[in-house]
Amino acid sequence: MNLTEMRRWLDLRGIQLTKSLGQNFLHDGNQLRRIVAAGEVVPEDNVLEIGPGLGPLTELLLAQTGQVFAIEKDARLVEVLRERFASTPNLTLLTADALRWLQENPRDWTTWKLVANLPYSVASPILVELAEADGPPERLVATLQLEVAQRIAAEAGTESYGLLSLLLQLRYEPRGWFKIPGSCFFPAPDVDSACLTLVRRPRPLLTHAEAKVFTQLVKLAFSQRRKMMLKLLKTRWPEDQLQSAFTEIGIPAMARGETIDLLRYVALTRYLMRP
Ligand code: SAM
Repeated sequence: MNLTEMRRWLDLRGIQLTKSLGQNFLHDGNQLRRIVAAGEVVPEDNVLEIGPGLGPLTELLLAQTGQVFAIEKDARLVEVLRERFASTPNLTLLTADALRWLQENPRDWTTWKLVANLPYSVASPILVELAEADGPPERLVATLQLEVAQRIAAEAGTESYGLLSLLLQLRYEPRGWFKIPGSCFFPAPDVDSACLTLVRRPRPLLTHAEAKVFTQLVKLAFSQRRKMMLKLLKTRWPEDQLQSAFTEIGIPAMARGETIDLLRYVALTRYLMRP
């Protein structure tokens, strides 16, 4: 689907794009193919697409995979999609707010891949929601704001590293990102864009119950970025327990949250959950 076709559909239906829904449609064939390639999509795959828009990515996914489940909030676009893909039995379309739907319909995504050009304003909570699912998808390939992609993939001690890096990296390994120029979208977004690939870890670093405590721990550790981690954590755990944990794990007493890597947060979670 190229730009001319996109304009034609929008004109035909008299659709004015809604900025608050992040409606920046990707019309560059090369970038769309790169996104599908990052998904390593094969016919046996089940693919979740959030925010299909007019369906430029959907059509490439449908050509390569067995099943696409697409969630779009804008009913006007869903109507276009129903018409465009009327004779495609392997597409399931849902009109819904994807974040709310995911929260209200927990399910096992283990055998699924997310491949999507996400609405930027809800991209982070959608990715966190999927990553924290009981069965998280095997791969997340998401086009989002460049700065958010960098935050998710960041390593400890860097400027971009923070809560989002840890919440996603607990279950996923970042496998790189590529920048997508603004001129590839209609209309061009106000921010830079990138497509990020995350691959589920072969074995979870923590159990589901431990992961819940990990989330509480990192949220607290990053609740005030300039404050010492120990000071923040002692509002929730006894100070002597924290001090012995820090010594055993090798966390300096004066450390701030952003200097501690994922594996030490994992070790700290386990320590604090010891009976
Ligand atoms: N995938 C299309 C493309 O690449 O051209 C459209 C991508 S556009 C960046 C984001 C899409 O997400 C829009 O179609 C918008 O209507 C939809 N959207 C926005 N918020 C949404 C939400 N909460 N749930 C589902 N879809 C949403």
